[in-house]
Amino acid sequence: MDIATLPVTALKGVGPKLADKLKRLNLHTVQDVLFHLPLRYQDRTRLMRIGSLRPGREAVVEGEIELADVVFRGRRSLICRVSDGTGHLHLRFFYFNAIQQQNLARGRRLRLFGLVRFGAVGLEMIHPEYEFTDGAQPAPAEENLTPVYPSTTGVHQLSLRKIARQTLEKHLNKIHDWLPPVVLQELKLPTLTEALALVHQPPPHTPVELLAEGKHPAVRRLAFEELLAHHLSLKRLRAQMQTEKAPVVTGAGELIKQLLAGLPFRLTPAQERVLHEILHDLGQQHPMQRLVQGDVGSGKTIVAALASLGAIESGLQVAVMAPTELLADQHLKNFSGWLEPLGISVVGLSGKLNGRARQNVLEKIVAGRAAIAVGTQALFQEGVEFSDLGLIVVDEQHRFGVHQRLALREKGRRGERRPHQLIMTATPIPRTLAQSLYADLDVSVIDELPPGRQPVETVAIPSARRADVVSRIREACTAGRQVYWVCPLIEESETLELETATDTAEALREAFPDLRLALIHGRLKPLEKEKIMAAFKRGEVQLLVATTVIEVGVDVPNASLMVIENAERLGLSQLHQLRGRIGRGSAESHCVLLYQPPLSEMARARLGAMRETSDGFEIARRDLEMRGPGELLGTRQAGMPQFHIADLLRDRALLEHVQSVAEQVLKEYPERVEPIVRRWRGSAEEYGRV
Ligand code: ADP
Ligand code: MG
Repeated sequence: MDIATLPVTALKGVGPKLADKLKRLNLHTVQDVLFHLPLRYQDRTRLMRIGSLRPGREAVVEGEIELADVVFRGRRSLICRVSDGTGHLHLRFFYFNAIQQQNLARGRRLRLFGLVRFGAVGLEMIHPEYEFTDGAQPAPAEENLTPVYPSTTGVHQLSLRKIARQTLEKHLNKIHDWLPPVVLQELKLPTLTEALALVHQPPPHTPVELLAEGKHPAVRRLAFEELLAHHLSLKRLRAQMQTEKAPVVTGAGELIKQLLAGLPFRLTPAQERVLHEILHDLGQQHPMQRLVQGDVGSGKTIVAALASLGAIESGLQVAVMAPTELLADQHLKNFSGWLEPLGISVVGLSGKLNGRARQNVLEKIVAGRAAIAVGTQALFQEGVEFSDLGLIVVDEQHRFGVHQRLALREKGRRGERRPHQLIMTATPIPRTLAQSLYADLDVSVIDELPPGRQPVETVAIPSARRADVVSRIREACTAGRQVYWVCPLIEESETLELETATDTAEALREAFPDLRLALIHGRLKPLEKEKIMAAFKRGEVQLLVATTVIEVGVDVPNASLMVIENAERLGLSQLHQLRGRIGRGSAESHCVLLYQPPLSEMARARLGAMRETSDGFEIARRDLEMRGPGELLGTRQAGMPQFHIADLLRDRALLEHVQSVAEQVLKEYPERVEPIVRRWRGSAEEYGRV
């Protein structure tokens, strides 16, 4: 029988009751047990001399009880002094019954296992495991390191060990190794059987640190398969989408021509190329799933607007979704400004819209009187229905994962037809990485900025020289320009962040009593934030002090100076995103990175990179080098795949091989795709059929 489907109850000693508890550990099948990896190991393979024990380590020792006594210091406890001729060790029991007390008597020999600590009278073990060794022959020492498994209440470590041991003995030989041997050879990885045996039962002297850090080939073997499984599941999803139907966009592009004719600028060749790629996809019968990567300021919005016109001309509706109210508002203004002159009805739907106004908007959307709706996630909440949604545009993709993408599509579904999806991100990641992690998407890249932009000149200045910075502010404002002063999140606390920003704003107000200054932060009501941003956009506010609420994508071309405090604490991509707020107009722009010395090596490298380049892809490449994809993509942000064993940072070298191996498997062993995916992603990932 296939162990991938064999229930755990097939194991000896696992009845329905235990099986129920194992479910809480996500252990349903015998195969699951094999992939339930130890957290750490105990070394019970050798006997230690008491004289050689170190506090903080677990150890096995043998010795004779020299002294046993019940003491009442603070708490009633049984204390035994054990010696093996090389030193003494105290055992301390807080819970013991009369029989235990009687057994743990002077003269008895025992074998002990426990954590050695530094106690009041030297080394001690609290509640060690013990076994008497006088009389009967003691059990032999363990042959291998002892695994400690992640557990849950009601499941004893010993029973997990027994289950795992039994599974290894009886079932390990039945596990299928889906990876072709040549691949293993190339990547210098062990077979699945070897890897699992080693991870569960490492022989003595295995470098357990390497296992714990995931650098051991056995763990890398498993991590690689998991990454491969993730990639394959996305590929499969993609293949499935290619069998689905989508509304075909066929217009002659009249509206697009009209909008282009009215624009004060010409599209860059990169924008034109990407627009073509999108329009080509929209003309297919299958739903487009396209990711557009483009540096901040590369002009993604107009491309999205032009693509929307394609859909609208074919009588379809478009939904444009942004991650925050601020960005949604900005998009609403841009889209309205561009499309309403063409006679197209644009509506906004955000969380703050209530009552009648909301009702009105909803009616327009459901009746098809609104061709395009712009908003936040509120666009896809219950009660929102489209008449005929053809295209969903999602801005700043990195906050949305595959599940969110699919859920959106399903909400826009009409009969058998699903809408096209266009996803835009300003966090470019290198192509190979994008292809491994976003295998369900096609990727387009806007790889040039509109002409006339001047690179932002960037300097790093220690905070002691703050005064120099202040004079720059005066210069910029006198020249009619505007300034951002960013106080980023330092503590993991919004309140503290706000305090710093408030203090800074006060100090700047004193320094420049004649300048129009405003403070914007996350605690303000959306309406207030909007007012401030609007005033800044109109030039009424000259100096904007902000916490990190100034979002990716906010567009104020007249702002030409940005000061970022505590720049050494921010990640490279984050700095780049912030800096992207300036250099949007034709004036020469400056970015000042204020830092607190001394700089760590990493911080120095980051600030150096910021000074040397303003190319988002180059920044991404360096960020990747320094921190790895996990950080770059912000694993903690929703939307990144969650892995059991793999780690995007640690395993980035493996990630490079995922795509080619996946292709090989798909071509030569297509029947293996399903079982690989099932092994790792389980039934939870059946997202193809939401
Ligand atoms: P992002 O890619 O960061 O979303 P935006 O779409 O906000 O960039 O564009 C930034 C600014 O550049 C906007 O003011 C936009 O109108 C302008 N823009 C876009 N394309 C061009 C172009 N081809 N030439 C000149 N300006 C452009
Ligand atoms: Mg944008």
